[in-house]
Amino acid sequence: MAARHLLDSWEELKTDLADRSLYLFLDYDGTLSPIVRDSGKAVLSLRMRGRLEALSKAGRCRIAVISGRSLEDIRRRVGIAGFAYGGNHGLEVEGPEGKFRYPVPEKAMRALDDVRRTVERELSPVPGVFLEDKGLSLTVHFRRVKRGELLIAAHAVSEATRLYRMRGEIVVRPGKEAFEIRPSVTWDKGKTVQWLLEKSTIAGGEPPWPLYVGDDRTDEDAFREIRERGATVFVGAPRQTEARYYLRNVGEVAEFLGRLVRI
Ligand SMILES: [Mg+2]
Repeated sequence: MAARHLLDSWEELKTDLADRSLYLFLDYDGTLSPIVRDSGKAVLSLRMRGRLEALSKAGRCRIAVISGRSLEDIRRRVGIAGFAYGGNHGLEVEGPEGKFRYPVPEKAMRALDDVRRTVERELSPVPGVFLEDKGLSLTVHFRRVKRGELLIAAHAVSEATRLYRMRGEIVVRPGKEAFEIRPSVTWDKGKTVQWLLEKSTIAGGEPPWPLYVGDDRTDEDAFREIRERGATVFVGAPRQTEARYYLRNVGEVAEFLGRLVRI
């Protein structure tokens, strides 16, 4: 079923939210902060920060920000006390629910290390390539690479990872003008949401009602996980998504959070 525009369906969602304790899960880039050319400059707007803080203070909902960035990076960028933060697509989590770090096999960690060194060496002559080491994964950014040199960059990543991909130790996923090089594990944002929901459920009580907002392919895992028991919101032009609702852009996410604050 095609996703419906959330602000148009607001009354319906409001009914679902009534008298429930809510757990709001948010992606960062493209959801809370617009995608920018230099990912180091993706900051929270004052308006967005104000709404997140207001929601947090209202005390009716828990909030987690889950991102492909490293845990340290995402925690620093948002920096609101009382939130849970998930880095590396949920491989590392820290918040009121406790700490979690997915036990990535030693072999995969060694593979990441080898790949990092090879990619650094092979791509150092290509202007504009930026390799980000996120501890549990790598991102090769090519937003600033000239068109004519994109193939060289793609080829170098493919060659550097080939052996480890064949051994099933790491996976390479296309990101937004980037390659994500991650350990090949079955943990994802959906499992992270499940972990946080379980940890935040009082023994014998009902788990909080999950509401997930995100714009990435990796957010689809979370959409599938809570499809039947919460609300799912895709950010961007409505396309193939498992989410029930969509918002067009970061501005509409801010509008939505503002409405949440008021109820
Ligand atoms: Mg995103």
